[in-house]
Amino acid sequence: MSNHTTLNSPNSRQVETSQAQRTHSKALAALFEPLQVGALTLKNRIIMGSMHTGLEESPQGFERLAVFYEERARHQVGLIITGGIAPNSEGRVVAGACAMITADDAREHQLVTDAVHNAGGRICMQILHAGRYAYSPELVAPSAIQSPITPFEPKALSAGQIEQQLNDFVRCATLAQQAGYDGVEVMGPEGYFINQFLVEHTNKRDDEWGGDFAGRSRFALEVVRRIRKAVGSDFLIIFRISVVDLIGKGSTFAQTSELAVGLEAAGVDILNTGIGWHEARIPTIATSVPRGAFSWATRKLKQVVSCPVVACNRINTPEVAAQIIRDGAADLVSMARPFLADPEFVSKAMAGQSIHINTCIGCNQACLDHTFAGKLTSCLVNPLACHETEILITKAVRPLRVAIVGAGPAGLAAARVAALCGHKVELFEASKEIGGQFNFAKRVPGKEEFYETLRFFEHELARLEVKIHLQKRASIVDLKAFDSVILASGVKPRWPNIKGIDHSMVVGYQEVYQGAEVGMRVAIIGAGGIGFDTAEYLNHAPSDTGTTEVSAYIKEWGIDTSLERPGGLQTQAVKPASAARQIYLLQRKTSKLGAGLGKTTGWIHRLNLHKRGVTMLGGVSYQRIDDDGLHVEVEGQYQCLAVDTVVICSGQESVNELGPELAACGKPFTVIGGAQVATEIDAKRAISEGFKAAIALDSA
Ligand code: NAP
Ligand code: SF4
Repeated sequence: MSNHTTLNSPNSRQVETSQAQRTHSKALAALFEPLQVGALTLKNRIIMGSMHTGLEESPQGFERLAVFYEERARHQVGLIITGGIAPNSEGRVVAGACAMITADDAREHQLVTDAVHNAGGRICMQILHAGRYAYSPELVAPSAIQSPITPFEPKALSAGQIEQQLNDFVRCATLAQQAGYDGVEVMGPEGYFINQFLVEHTNKRDDEWGGDFAGRSRFALEVVRRIRKAVGSDFLIIFRISVVDLIGKGSTFAQTSELAVGLEAAGVDILNTGIGWHEARIPTIATSVPRGAFSWATRKLKQVVSCPVVACNRINTPEVAAQIIRDGAADLVSMARPFLADPEFVSKAMAGQSIHINTCIGCNQACLDHTFAGKLTSCLVNPLACHETEILITKAVRPLRVAIVGAGPAGLAAARVAALCGHKVELFEASKEIGGQFNFAKRVPGKEEFYETLRFFEHELARLEVKIHLQKRASIVDLKAFDSVILASGVKPRWPNIKGIDHSMVVGYQEVYQGAEVGMRVAIIGAGGIGFDTAEYLNHAPSDTGTTEVSAYIKEWGIDTSLERPGGLQTQAVKPASAARQIYLLQRKTSKLGAGLGKTTGWIHRLNLHKRGVTMLGGVSYQRIDDDGLHVEVEGQYQCLAVDTVVICSGQESVNELGPELAACGKPFTVIGGAQVATEIDAKRAISEGFKAAIALDSA
């Protein structure tokens, strides 16, 4: 449907089919075996998991969703599961969210199902009832217990109203069938409505829908029994089951397996794994969570049922996905965000071209953070995601000679897209490597995924024959030969005006990442994203790479993998992580530190630093720096922080010396990223501006 995608595909003639590539393809083969499930043959083991995109509620949303899903289906995803659709008004996640209630609703969805089927794909609709998690005063739940993540207390349902909820689930499933879906996924985990029935934490009922586990699991089983009866045997029913709740008073594995066996008997075709309630305070999908960190939970589930089971959470490469299948931990793998990052994930993996996959780095910045802010979902590394009908990369009518100055995220994105458009591109970078600020971020423990973005750009620019000049500070003389210039020369650290700032104990954050000596007692001036990252970096001993190992992550967060304890939580307090240094993280504002970090990840950064003993101070006034340390006033009280090193993380200033010179000689140019506006520059804005500037070249 959209014409940009063919331009994204590596040209097979350009990609060498080496022995290594063939070995690689063999290692992935398990991923591409078909699977018969009920009446359906899935072409491979890869599920694109459910994600709310925001298109569902947008103008022309279903037309846009059709293009979005069609592209992923065309690139060989085995089965797509839509974002969650409510079965009734009170089950919507927020007021106005998409629901499947009437035949008219079903008709809109036909655009999507037709597009996917025409592309040779399969698609199921997820039924999601939010229960007490609904962000609306209409909300209902098994018991009137408010969740910590919504401001509303839910209304406890009567037995008669529970019957009505069941009818609504059945109506929703039959309408999905009429809309042409291949099946439905019933959303049972993450603390949503069905999960709320299952555990004592949220179900205090003493009627037939509560009490012991048989009573608490009745709702889940009835949903499946009644849907199966209504839709017949050929329609797929997937149930997403919470295997690890990660909350106190959650289910034990004995209870989960009893439910899983019951669900299979009730008519479920596939069981998908759910991990963690939304109110759990353990990260489960952020970038700091190791890849495939929960495949052990799916393996446990697989041992108690005979239907296919699905692994999920932090699976972002074909290699990790294939390993899980090969190890026998799951029959299928579900990935959601990786299909925002790269719609061609499966077709590239099938062609043995994993190195060309734009990998999801688990940052949540343009997907979940957008969703929670009520904005359209997209992707930091792929701004085209969910904008397929608006941002088109097409061949330039007038191919130009384009110089790009700066190989940070903005310059790299601009270089790639300009080359995709057919321009002849040269990239100038003053340092010895591409990546800009990403070269600092990738060194932060828990942010190793940033290496993948740099790997992607490196291979893409080579494939697209972009000429890269490293250690070359472009001058006006170098740029005169080009038709157009994109200035992505980035930022330099802002140096605050504090008495004693020239003291030898003061270093900039860039020097820290470049190996400057840092003492055991450190004060960090500035608590933005970089201040937090630097505190994390300095808090780890050089040999300690954070929780990249699954075992270290499980230990650090106190997860009971035997799942004998309710919710899979260890009873003893989580062992505090060892701190390599004594660190103060400081800001002048009196607001909560890290308030500007991502909604879905800021709490993790704060908790991590707190566990490692970092002292976070707001309302700080910097007095002076001398041999005794950093002298400050905190809310009017004087104190001297006796530190060996003061690290400056106090924001950025633009670097754009070439702009005025280019203007003076009349050369067409565009300034993007931090070079244009340094305030709040991050990789999301940088990459997005790189895309837009490159696309606009042709019309300049
Ligand atoms: P930032 O977020 O703007 O933070 C700058 C910090 O320096 C603030 O704490 C500010 O707080 C302080 N500051 C500003 N001017 C100062 C001055 N003259 N003297 C002393 N302190 C001063 O910038 P950043 O940390 O450099 O990050 C750059 C961008 O990258 C941001 O957009 C950030 O969101 C993004 N980023 C995000 C993450 C993440 O989400 N994990 C990680 C890295 C970077 P006060 O003014 O209150 O003192
Ligand atoms: Fe992945 Fe970040 Fe893109 Fe979300 S925004 S899909 S987490 S890379």
